[in-house]
Amino acid sequence: MFNIILFGPPGAGKGTQSGNISREFGFVHLSTGQILRNLIRRGTASGELISKFVDRGYLVPDDIVLRELFREALKHKKSPGLIFDGFPRTVHQAVMLENLLEKRDMPVSMVISLDVEQDELYRRIMGRSVDSGRSDDHEEVIRQRFMTYEEETLPLKEFYRNQGRLVEISGMAPVKEVYHNIREQILQRLNGEGREEEQ
Ligand code: AMP
Repeated sequence: MFNIILFGPPGAGKGTQSGNISREFGFVHLSTGQILRNLIRRGTASGELISKFVDRGYLVPDDIVLRELFREALKHKKSPGLIFDGFPRTVHQAVMLENLLEKRDMPVSMVISLDVEQDELYRRIMGRSVDSGRSDDHEEVIRQRFMTYEEETLPLKEFYRNQGRLVEISGMAPVKEVYHNIREQILQRLNGEGREEEQ
């Protein structure tokens, strides 16, 4: 099983590139943002609680996110791979993810950080906000989402870099070009894994 963590600031293209990876490699795309939005849409009590955080641009508490993400992930234990889009978002979540996956023999194979300059991020996300239908795509909330990213998620880069596992990919180029670079990195590792198994 080949599991990928994909993280980056709002507007970096995580969802789009996860979709591309999923189509080509058959990996299951798990977006915590999407899972949480689906729960909000259902209008349950838990959905109502989740919306209080999402609609303000804050992180949803770990116990809720972990429970919902794992419920989804375990449905796909037989898939060739999983793409974690938007999870982890804190070092604590990264440690929890690692522990839970390792216990189930589903290790993380690759960590990709998608990097885009701040001005470009604003341009993309403000453009998208016109018709995204997302309750958190409003200027004030977008600002908070960026702040949350810088304060809570950015330390993850150092965390994975120190482990020698961080693959940094620029997300500034057109979607096709960014995907080309992502795919090269995945293929390199997939081929490497194949060779290790042969030995
Ligand atoms: P996204 O679709 O990835 O931009 O996520 C939208 C919102 O969902 C975020 O602003 C958070 O409020 C919430 N969210 C998504 N992933 C996580 C996570 N790993 N931990 C906590 N909250 C999250």
